[in-house]
Amino acid sequence: MEHTGVGHGTVEDSSVRSSSVEGSSAEHPGLDIEALRADTPGTTHRVHLNNAGAGLLSRRTLATMTSHLELEADIGGYEAARQEQERIDATRTDLARLVGGRPDEIALFDNSTHAWNAAFYSMTFKPGDRILTGRAEYGSSVLAYLQTARRAGAEVVVVPDDEYGQLDTAALTELIDERTRLIGVTHIPTSGGLVNPAHEIGRIARAAGVPFLLDATQSVGQFPVDVTRIGCDMLSATGRKFLRGPRGTGFLWVRREALDYLDPFVSDIEAATWDGERGFTWHAGARRFESWEASYANVLGLGEAVRQALDLGMDPIGERALALGAYLRDALDALPGVTTYDLGRVRCAIVTTKVDGVPTADVAAALTRQGINVSTTVPEHTQFDTEVRDVHPLVRLSPHYYNTHAELDRAVAAVAELAGTAG
Ligand SMILES: *Cc1c(COP(=O)(O)O)cnc(C)c1O
Repeated sequence: MEHTGVGHGTVEDSSVRSSSVEGSSAEHPGLDIEALRADTPGTTHRVHLNNAGAGLLSRRTLATMTSHLELEADIGGYEAARQEQERIDATRTDLARLVGGRPDEIALFDNSTHAWNAAFYSMTFKPGDRILTGRAEYGSSVLAYLQTARRAGAEVVVVPDDEYGQLDTAALTELIDERTRLIGVTHIPTSGGLVNPAHEIGRIARAAGVPFLLDATQSVGQFPVDVTRIGCDMLSATGRKFLRGPRGTGFLWVRREALDYLDPFVSDIEAATWDGERGFTWHAGARRFESWEASYANVLGLGEAVRQALDLGMDPIGERALALGAYLRDALDALPGVTTYDLGRVRCAIVTTKVDGVPTADVAAALTRQGINVSTTVPEHTQFDTEVRDVHPLVRLSPHYYNTHAELDRAVAAVAELAGTAG
């Protein structure tokens, strides 16, 4: 059942085309993999297959951050921010370009969870209101739903999966009624290669006039994600994963029209302005969700990572990331005693697996000892998935465009050895 569907394909509306990367001396047409690796210090001594955890920083991103820290030490933190104001603003502009929104629809955060919370907790729910979500939903969002159910009497409804293991859009359509207050869906779960049909969900949400909050934490930076084409109203993402930004960064995109029904759940001197009497007005755009203080080294580093992604092109990045994911998944599936568990009609660069008779933690530890960075899934981090699939923890391998086929072969050989010694 886990292997239903094709191992590669398009990420809806052909925004990502799968492509053959074999048969040429270059690793990928359009991407100079050798140069990209030379610009990525971590690739010299690690096989980094933990991009779903944190992608490797490039030298240009690292240099941007360290030079800003040096500037802060040299002339003062406030003075450094003032001097770099244009580049700080460029982070918002470039994030907007990346996701197809407008700069005033972007709010900067220190992670994706806080960005998601800023949108979710700014909605109001009353008893009987329904939140429709999916099995792939992320652990912290599920806890937020459960809190809202407890606090406000809202009802959380988990839309079932279809035969591919992705959110069943026909079931979603059926479930929408006058009680539906929000559709909250995760594009790609933390726990597997599934790519949920975000564009179709967006069409359904728009037709029904229901707000759609998309958790795009694992998809932004991995392949093209366009808010206009998806038709979501709010989108959260992190900086450190496939976007290759620094840790401690994230952002929220909010459609301008959604500001009408979102009441920011915290106020702040960045978010609002005192009117001189006993009132205040919110900042005109999505900045109303931000707080005043931020790490500008991180903000600048995030901007640099975004520009690098835009310079390379999200189309070739996505094509290569998905092709490497499919290559790795197929190679692992071909090993006796090894199973992969990625759901969905379209599957991405996240590959989850188990070796018969070898505990997941031991597989991960063995790979780590060989300099191969992987992680493991946590049952409590995808509660609704865990309710129906008793498979976690799984070993999670997540290549990105700068990985090579030779590196994937090394990882597969290491898994094969463990599978061989287990029997
Ligand atoms: C990692 C992850 C998050 C949380 O992102 P943070 O930046 O750690 O807050 C949310 N959703 C998904 C699907 C994730 O994989």
